[in-house]
Amino acid sequence: MKKTHLAQPLQTGDPIIKLDSITKAYDTPTGPFTALHDIDLTIYPKEFVAIIGKSGSGKTTMLNILAGIDRPTGGALTIADARIHGLSESELSTWRGKNIGLVFQFFQLLPTLTVAENIMLAMDLVKVIPADERRSRTIELLEEVGIADQADKLPSSLSGGQQQRAAIARALANNPPLLLCDEPTGNLDSKNREIVLELFAKLNKRGHTIVMITHERDAGAFADRQVTLVDGRIVEDSRG
Ligand code: ADP
Ligand code: MG
Repeated sequence: MKKTHLAQPLQTGDPIIKLDSITKAYDTPTGPFTALHDIDLTIYPKEFVAIIGKSGSGKTTMLNILAGIDRPTGGALTIADARIHGLSESELSTWRGKNIGLVFQFFQLLPTLTVAENIMLAMDLVKVIPADERRSRTIELLEEVGIADQADKLPSSLSGGQQQRAAIARALANNPPLLLCDEPTGNLDSKNREIVLELFAKLNKRGHTIVMITHERDAGAFADRQVTLVDGRIVEDSRG
């Protein structure tokens, strides 16, 4: 697989992600289970970071905390200029819509809406793109990811790789600075994996900060920085 050679980000200015001693414990019938232990992590704008770990290492827990989907049980975090643990659920969802694009392993497109409608719905919910520009922006985004010809089809008639590209276009709907991706290549064949990883590299060059969670070390190698999680702890943080 082709390796990108991007300039290292200049580590000045404010971080886009700052986790200080973040802990997450889940209540379980047998008592609390700590899925993340004292995580310190700082990510600067325009970085492309892979968070790599085996199943159960805490990757999805971390992504849910970064996206404000779940709250930590200890520590402090600032994401995209917001101290999100102080926000209400409705403030959080507005903040998330403007600041974060989410990409999941199983695409999570709404099955009864066309590809274009899925993307326009994301715009309708957040309302930063003027209503009369939503359709044309949607087509531009689909051109960007290479599936403009699929705009008016239902997701079920697209291949997995095409559905993931549609999901990436949806994540970009409101032009968020930060893309958070949970196993985005986990359900793709090798050709589509490469297409999606190249697309992330292109979006990163355009200025989007990307955090990609993966259990595949070779997919992680595509990023500029690799953070390795083992049993809820960061054991390695390297650039390559
Ligand atoms: P990964 O995404 O790396 O596979 P997760 O973040 O999903 O890991 O899970 C980390 C650990 O936390 C696992 O041991 C998992 O069983 C546990 N866990 C995740 N979610 C919950 C939950 N809601 N309640 C209890 N334990 C959980
Ligand atoms: Mg997971």
